[in-house]
Amino acid sequence: MDLPRIVENSPWARLARLKLGTRNVAMVLGRTIHLSGVSREEFLRDPYWVAHEMEHVRQFAQYGRLGFLGRYLLGWVWHGYYNIPFEVAARAAGERDAHLYAAGRPLPPPEERHQGVQG
Ligand SMILES: [Zn+2]
Repeated sequence: MDLPRIVENSPWARLARLKLGTRNVAMVLGRTIHLSGVSREEFLRDPYWVAHEMEHVRQFAQYGRLGFLGRYLLGWVWHGYYNIPFEVAARAAGERDAHLYAAGRPLPPPEERHQGVQG
């Protein structure tokens, strides 16, 4: 499974992390996953998290930069972060698609999964 580009210590992800008040964030811009507070290795170790972000990559490709970001922000205003439709879909995709990103290993147990906001 091809992964998009991954940027560690991203200033964009850092802004999102501060806004969300969480220790680590992955966020998608275009076909790039931006990380803050988490290394590439830690991120890739959680296939649920990778599958979640890959759904955002797909959404971004489907709606385009302005279409995605506009819908995302409106969804945030209308529904609150947790219930943004793109986030609901990405959480479902995380559960559904994690096996695609497990690199042949068993899926991690709940206590080894990333905790908190997935971005
Ligand atoms: Zn998300």
